[in-house]
Amino acid sequence: MSQFDEPIGIAKGVMFDLDGTLILSDRKLGGYTVLPGAVETLTALKDRGIPYLALTNGSAYPAYQQAPRLRAIGLPIPDENLFTPNSVAAGVFRDRGVERVLVLGTEGVAEALRGDGLVTVMPDAEGAAKADAVYVAWHPECSMEHIHAACEAVLGGAAFFTASDVPFFATKGGRSFGYSCAISGAIARVTGSEPEVTGKPSLHAMQFVAHRLGLDAGEVAVIGDDPRVETEMARLGGAIGIGVTTGTTTREGWAASQPEHRPHRVIDRIDAILDMGLLG
Ligand SMILES: [Mg+2]
Repeated sequence: MSQFDEPIGIAKGVMFDLDGTLILSDRKLGGYTVLPGAVETLTALKDRGIPYLALTNGSAYPAYQQAPRLRAIGLPIPDENLFTPNSVAAGVFRDRGVERVLVLGTEGVAEALRGDGLVTVMPDAEGAAKADAVYVAWHPECSMEHIHAACEAVLGGAAFFTASDVPFFATKGGRSFGYSCAISGAIARVTGSEPEVTGKPSLHAMQFVAHRLGLDAGEVAVIGDDPRVETEMARLGGAIGIGVTTGTTTREGWAASQPEHRPHRVIDRIDAILDMGLLG
């Protein structure tokens, strides 16, 4: 389509979204399906020595628990190539001198942060409000007591972060809604403080991706299914944005997206990136 033919550079590395791009997850069944061409794409990148990683906004589990599940359904992704907003958050916390983090998330979220050397405190613990930072992530068991503790901490001066403020994401059964967005929205409304986002489309996430790939952002192809997530991040960070039609967004949807969300190219199968002159 003519609106997706602007000049682009050569990508020396690739960031993939997970849900809607490489796989579709089915939350009700707790399972995943690999999308057509995904296996061939990861295999070809490995063979060609092109660095890649997958960054999901799904924060429920540490990467070392998620990656084996993906390999079990046939997606050949090593643990060290899979990242979540928790990985990004840990780096931001280290840079800011944050030591003690109040976690509104599953045990998996806290485990991921502890794995990166942080001290985590859960919202029902004694003295929970005395934290350096509040981090909201996947938290289906969130209670009013948890929101209360987080509000007290933020009002007491704790920095405020969320894994994601994306309201919806694609699943096999249609759209599912983002708990981090709902919970951090509640805390923001009460405290008057807006959270910093660590997941996509934040610049924190873009910088993390480029750094991990050992590239400048302009050398990275950022591939995803959501104009408000991956391609917004690509535009914001100066990367090459590629939109897929296998998740939340149709070709017509991409065509109608705002300039700040618009991809440089749109593809209907993920393996199209292998022979479109994108990769160097
Ligand atoms: Mg997605």
